[in-house]
Amino acid sequence: MYTYEELKNFVDHCPRCQLARTRNRAVMGKGNLNSPILFIAEAPGNSEDRDGIPFTGPSGTVFDDLLGSIGLNRQDIYLTNIVKCHPPNNRDPLPQEQEACIAYLKYETLLIRPKIIVCLGRIAAQRIIRPDYRITREHGTFLYRKNTWLTAVYHPSAILRDPAKLEETKADFRKIREKWETL
Ligand code: SF4
Repeated sequence: MYTYEELKNFVDHCPRCQLARTRNRAVMGKGNLNSPILFIAEAPGNSEDRDGIPFTGPSGTVFDDLLGSIGLNRQDIYLTNIVKCHPPNNRDPLPQEQEACIAYLKYETLLIRPKIIVCLGRIAAQRIIRPDYRITREHGTFLYRKNTWLTAVYHPSAILRDPAKLEETKADFRKIREKWETL
């Protein structure tokens, strides 16, 4: 079993897929390794590629506000991505890139042993919950698998594109908080 620092070192120097050639910085997940809650998005964006930290741009501000709305902050949770390197032009990560990178997420999950996993957006939900997951219909619902509660909410960038999604995402975050309190 690797430590967080060992895992981060692997990710920082990883050559396992083509994204290694175009990234500026690989973006290892970050947060509280003892948290019961793991948030998973799809891939780092432009700001994250520059800073090497998940969710540092406008999406990060939306995410922090959503956490704050239920009395949490980044030190209370762990946040990571399916792929750790930025896909050029913000395209979706390809299936082969997800496949190459998924072992790092599995190790992060083993390190954290979360009780709740929250997928941020369709791509993470389709990778983690079910390939045909419909984020518009199913966001905010929970299912229990292998001793872990799984759910999905809209990705913060979707809220930036369509602010009408903010209120229903806040409601989903309240459900996450309620689930946390039942653990
Ligand atoms: S996306 Fe993942 S598998 Fe591909 S180079 Fe980056 S860390 Fe390695």
